[in-house]
Amino acid sequence: MATFLDISVQSEALSPEQRARLVTSCPVEIFALYGDQVIVRDDQVDECTLCEVCLKIAPAKAILIRKKYKDDVLISAGES
Ligand code: SF4
Repeated sequence: MATFLDISVQSEALSPEQRARLVTSCPVEIFALYGDQVIVRDDQVDECTLCEVCLKIAPAKAILIRKKYKDDVLISAGES
């Protein structure tokens, strides 16, 4: 379990193309494909740099990044 962050993804809210883009775009490989679904690699979560690239790929509210050390949640807003 990660110490600093919780990251969740609603895979079913993403298109197959968005799932593939998440996996290839995160610089620290937080996301992986499991069958045709995208999952969060729990062992990798604390490596997140909060770059927000994933939040720009995913549809609104499909990804949540909760900072455990602070009362703050980053939420995907969908591509603009
Ligand atoms: S914020 Fe950046 S480092 Fe963190 S999960 Fe998203 S793409 Fe990966």
